[in-house]
Amino acid sequence: MGLTTEVARAGTTATERLLLSRALRGPGALRFRLAVATARGVRSLDRLTDTRIDPSRAGRALLTAQPDALGRLAARLEHGCALVSATNGKTTTTNLLASIVRAAGLGPVVNHVGANMPGGICAELLAGARWSATADIGVFEVDELWLDHVVPPLVPRVIVLGNLFRDQLDRMGEIDRVAARWRAFVARLDTRTVLVVNADDPRVCQLTAGHSRIVHFGLDACDREAPAPGGDQATCLRCAGRFAYDGAHIAHLGRWRCTGCGDRRPDRLEVEARDVELHGTHGVSFTLDVEPVRPDGIGGGDTTGPRSERIVLGLPGRFNVANAAAAAAAALAMGCTTHHVVTGLGGAKGAFGRAERLSIAGREVVQILAKNPSGLDEIVTMLVAAGRPLDLLFVLNDRDLDGRDVSWIWDADVERIAPLVMRATCGGSRAAEAAMRLDYAGVDPCAIEVVDGIAEPLSRALARARGPIHAVTNYSAMLDLRETVAEQGHAKRYWS
Ligand SMILES: [Zn+2]
Repeated sequence: MGLTTEVARAGTTATERLLLSRALRGPGALRFRLAVATARGVRSLDRLTDTRIDPSRAGRALLTAQPDALGRLAARLEHGCALVSATNGKTTTTNLLASIVRAAGLGPVVNHVGANMPGGICAELLAGARWSATADIGVFEVDELWLDHVVPPLVPRVIVLGNLFRDQLDRMGEIDRVAARWRAFVARLDTRTVLVVNADDPRVCQLTAGHSRIVHFGLDACDREAPAPGGDQATCLRCAGRFAYDGAHIAHLGRWRCTGCGDRRPDRLEVEARDVELHGTHGVSFTLDVEPVRPDGIGGGDTTGPRSERIVLGLPGRFNVANAAAAAAAALAMGCTTHHVVTGLGGAKGAFGRAERLSIAGREVVQILAKNPSGLDEIVTMLVAAGRPLDLLFVLNDRDLDGRDVSWIWDADVERIAPLVMRATCGGSRAAEAAMRLDYAGVDPCAIEVVDGIAEPLSRALARARGPIHAVTNYSAMLDLRETVAEQGHAKRYWS
């Protein structure tokens, strides 16, 4: 069963749709079409070249010529759009949500290579939303600091606010700065927009509390009493009090309560995952408890009563369970059914570079993205759960894309993985620092090789490996590695 027209159109009124369609035909329409055609030409030329392209370039060009292009292009999406923002997991959550809406019979436009600023979203709208009859809904991940810019023109039906961790500190500043930006845009948000909120993150949960339409999701999988010590812990937004926990799972996420004012994680969540079983780097299974979600108040959605579904997800790690719960909650808020959720999650593939399996010269290489301490910690948990000897390729860069400061690798509990590492090859522009981290963690120094760059460490790792290679990379290193693998003919280029 697809989405009903009523639910699908809940994001805009008939008057708004009329005004938008007039805007597309009205004064300046010819200029707009010319700008769109030019930007599309830029994109086509880029794709013809044989070097790595910037997937946002055409979108940025269009926005320079037509600052209102995002809104005008998004208005053509019959079923509106959903946005996903978080420090960790936004690309995967976006891909899972796209998979669910596909299972519901829709054709999503998705910024699946992670170009998550206005130019990137605009470029995807250019590519997919225009004259194609199949593109009828937008599912976009959005950079945390750009969310307040893109919400007004896109008029999303649903916004997923996942989590806030320390990440790229030199660009993002402290988490509290991001949180303040989010709080300000939530205060101005159209009351019809549904916020899909991670109940386990006290900061995110509290900053959204004033909004009238909220769907909460979370993870009932606490494996320790309190958050690990670190810099991500918040103080209460209401009373500046300290948070205590009745159990925690990933970093500072868990069953929080304020010791000052008594504010606490909601008891009943619309979507909650429990009984998580990790299957190494191959996937994870869990039970998803779903309450009826009718946030639109106009019907649609799954109103058949509470349900529990066992989900088998082909993506590893507990963080992907949280991502799946977020995607499920967003899909239900857009009118999808539990059946669509089960089908969509079951058929979902990993986002590019996130536990993606490649075959290189006959050897399996699992590419794993790590870009901040909490993410790296969960990757260590996943690899420890797999429990097998490891051939590790650790590639660390310090480009602008990553943030120049790579000291975050010292804040993750890498020590837990040391006994499993048989051979480690370190690469990238900060190969030496990566090697030093493994050395301090207790990996046998004789098992560590340091080779600068990307292609060389990859071939060294391939030459040394006796089993599958787990390639842990930060963001630009992931792009470099993927480009190298594509040049060698082992995988498609990521933009194709
Ligand atoms: Zn408080």
